[in-house]
Amino acid sequence: MELVVPQRLPLRTVPIRNEVLLLFLQRLAVGNGLPARYLLGVVRHTPPNPVATLAALTGHSIDVLTRTLPELREASVNLGERKLRPPPGFTGVGQPCRLCTARHGGRRITVWHNDEDCVCLRHHRWIGDGSTNQMVLQKAPEIVRANRIHRRLIVRIGAAAVREARAEAAGIIDRWHRRNALPAVTARAERLPGADPESYAAIAEHQLAAQYPAVVALTLLLTNATWVEDALSGPTGWNRARDQVARSVTGRYRPEGAHDPLIQWVNDRHPRWMELDAPSGPIVAIPRTVPPDSERRVLVLPGAVTHRSTAAVATITTSSRAD
Ligand SMILES: [Zn+2]
Repeated sequence: MELVVPQRLPLRTVPIRNEVLLLFLQRLAVGNGLPARYLLGVVRHTPPNPVATLAALTGHSIDVLTRTLPELREASVNLGERKLRPPPGFTGVGQPCRLCTARHGGRRITVWHNDEDCVCLRHHRWIGDGSTNQMVLQKAPEIVRANRIHRRLIVRIGAAAVREARAEAAGIIDRWHRRNALPAVTARAERLPGADPESYAAIAEHQLAAQYPAVVALTLLLTNATWVEDALSGPTGWNRARDQVARSVTGRYRPEGAHDPLIQWVNDRHPRWMELDAPSGPIVAIPRTVPPDSERRVLVLPGAVTHRSTAAVATITTSSRAD
């Protein structure tokens, strides 16, 4: 059998950090005037393995390639599937900061992406998933600070825990923002460069950027064991936890009422005492012991008028959750 030794291609192509392997190969092929499918076949089938072949073709060391291209770190390099599948540690794909990649000829580059990659710390730009205009953050430096906090939190407690809490926090902040409960977010949205009014994606990215510091601040609380313990411990602890939310996330707004998304977050994790539909007013503990003959009771809190639509009423059922 003839041994094929790959030669280094004339045009040196530098891989971008976390670049999607197949799209890097495509860039390498186009830059050197080769059909992408042909180059893919060479990399896939030349012994001893794709990494060694790629090192010979590009002139980069195996160490550089595996540090830069996450798929090459996997035991079996997948060059066969049509559908891109994120390698371990990534959630999806996005485009990197265009200023960081400008020296690569302005070609569209696709990288494996995580939540925290939404900001370029070098150029102070909102990247989001990179699909729209990458906003300059000069007038909203708190977004850059929030991203540093976000990244530090990942180092401290791990990506999976942060990802889960951030998703919860993003949902809560978005609902508060839609209710105009977060004036700081509204003011920040006005300070950011305007989004293209014709582009739904650009408008959505603009909102995400404006909400981001509040999302990170709430993520810090949702991943803080002391805060969570307080929030789930009963009325006194909840009041303390709520004060902290007002201090570090919402400003003046204090979550109240059964329709509040944070109270729903607490209710989903805990207990009967929080199951209020009071539009406002202090939380009053509901006894955990329910009379056995009561299928469903309505408990009227002290001081409330006894009309269902306006009273501070708590409902409790004997068939509540087991927790
Ligand atoms: Zn950049």
